[in-house]
Amino acid sequence: MPQPPTRFLVIDGFEFAAAGASVHGTWPAEVFPRLRGMLYDSQGSVEYDLRGSRDVHGRHGLDMRIRAALRLACRRCLEPVSVTVEEDVQLWLARSQAEIDAMPLTAEGPDGIVASKEMAVRDLVEDELLLALPYAPRHEDCPADGARSPGARQSPFSGLRGMLRGRHRH
Ligand SMILES: [Zn+2]
Repeated sequence: MPQPPTRFLVIDGFEFAAAGASVHGTWPAEVFPRLRGMLYDSQGSVEYDLRGSRDVHGRHGLDMRIRAALRLACRRCLEPVSVTVEEDVQLWLARSQAEIDAMPLTAEGPDGIVASKEMAVRDLVEDELLLALPYAPRHEDCPADGARSPGARQSPFSGLRGMLRGRHRH
């Protein structure tokens, strides 16, 4: 039987972790439905590596490594801005949300997620990817800012002056 495309890859959380299994691959950015709406264009890819593990407390977990290069729209000028993501995340697997809620919150240490027998790898990767992306992507040296800052070629008053001149023409 042919294997389904890896984007539909599903793991059994606890079994995957207990076996120390791993999956990895590279997907075009556009296969992620929630990410797609944030992309400037369909360029870009996401490399992921997911490994089952056990932490020092004996809890089952997932170690995820994400490397992505994407083009998002700059919040200021709406032109493309290149964004790279290098994210290494540890998650521990809980049997229920109540189990996660019962854990004391710590600044560091892995986040808990509710495990199931059918966890879509694409969704797991996308969840972490979205958390890692800049909230408001923008160019470090955005042309939209340059036009407004003092010392730019245009005087800050040139727009106003033009407006006044236009008024006199009537
Ligand atoms: Zn910009």
